[in-house]
Amino acid sequence: MALTRTALLAALNDVNHPALGKGLADAEAVLKAAYCDGIAAVHLAGAGLSPADRGTLAAQAKAAVTAVAQRAGETITQLNIEWMEAAPGSKTAESAAAAPRTVSLAGGAPAAGNSGPATQANPRPAGAAQAAALALPNIKHIIAVGAGKGGVGKSTVAVNLAVGLALRGHAVGILDGDIYGPSLPTMMGLGGLQANLLGNMLQPFFVHNVKAMTIGKLVDPEKPLIWRGPMAHGAFKQLVDQTEWGELDYLIIDLPPGTGDVALTMSQLLKLTGAVVVCTPQQVAQDDAIRALRMFQQLQIEVLGVVENMSYFVADDIPASQGGPREYDIFGRGGAQQMAQRTGVPFLGSVPITINLRKNSDDGNPSANFQGKTKLSESLDRLVQNLEGQVALASFKLGQSKPTLTIS
Ligand code: ADP
Repeated sequence: MALTRTALLAALNDVNHPALGKGLADAEAVLKAAYCDGIAAVHLAGAGLSPADRGTLAAQAKAAVTAVAQRAGETITQLNIEWMEAAPGSKTAESAAAAPRTVSLAGGAPAAGNSGPATQANPRPAGAAQAAALALPNIKHIIAVGAGKGGVGKSTVAVNLAVGLALRGHAVGILDGDIYGPSLPTMMGLGGLQANLLGNMLQPFFVHNVKAMTIGKLVDPEKPLIWRGPMAHGAFKQLVDQTEWGELDYLIIDLPPGTGDVALTMSQLLKLTGAVVVCTPQQVAQDDAIRALRMFQQLQIEVLGVVENMSYFVADDIPASQGGPREYDIFGRGGAQQMAQRTGVPFLGSVPITINLRKNSDDGNPSANFQGKTKLSESLDRLVQNLEGQVALASFKLGQSKPTLTIS
């Protein structure tokens, strides 16, 4: 017996909204409730609720969803309950990004009925404007990693997402689209390796269980890459077309920073499952990141989520006996998370500033970031798992997978 939409909403309705005195669904506080292959995502309208109320409600909603799934014989492997800054039943600026919509099933009928306003981060149907984009049939999910500006850790996040996904058993590739400033040769440790051609196809480097390709290994690293937009685009297209990727579950693309011509055209070249936006917590960084979010949304590319990088600093040289590792909120932890909530896009998680992450990136050893049980390894694991969840939901919206059940 599958978990039905009616059952999930009924379960959420058993949780009482303290301000409105009704169940969450009747109070129109359920902005989104989706379930697909063990992954459940619930977005709730949180305006006017105290953090304590939110905590209690989230715990109750979690228990209710878990219980109803068990009764339906489903095992929930991931359950994300997120608060949006919208009032129940309202269509505020945030939820205007989120007009009610019906998600259509892969090859099936549109999901009937609605639980109230459904939150949708992208104002237009995902994927529609990507009709002309190139599909790579052997690659299940292509994910672009972008940022509003350089230096926020976009490449670092792209590399660690790729390595993390591979550690979780997926077949993964990473393509350096940062054509003007390729970071992959250093970050993936490609130093002594030579690019190989077989016929006219480039063989990707296989490092850290990830297939990697970068322009940085095909040109003189000391020479500046002064390319006009169309040339950069052409080089990128060639890297995509002429690399022997084989079968992949995920191809991560490290886009150039910003929302300029090159990032824009590259985002349109391939049929993407979605995009991840990397941001640091400060207000100025958020402003840039919002521009990147809007760029993807205008291109009708699903925003899979925001990553807050350099969220806080972990001084891991201070031993536990002296109260360590100590954490310092240098840039104002949580800023990017709030921005994600304000703009109605998922938040994938935060990555601390750590000396090890910088060092492992410089040493080309990203696998080391996942070793042991540290703040860094835990935050990266969480990020990767949340991305898997968002990809499952996005692909089902795009009709790429056949879910056991879908709910608007
Ligand atoms: P971008 O791709 O946005 O330009 P990079 O990923 O190249 O940024 O990161 C810039 C520099 O900052 C790199 O040296 C990288 O190792 C370092 N860095 C990025 N994120 C972190 C972090 N969370 N902790 C420590 N160093 C970081």
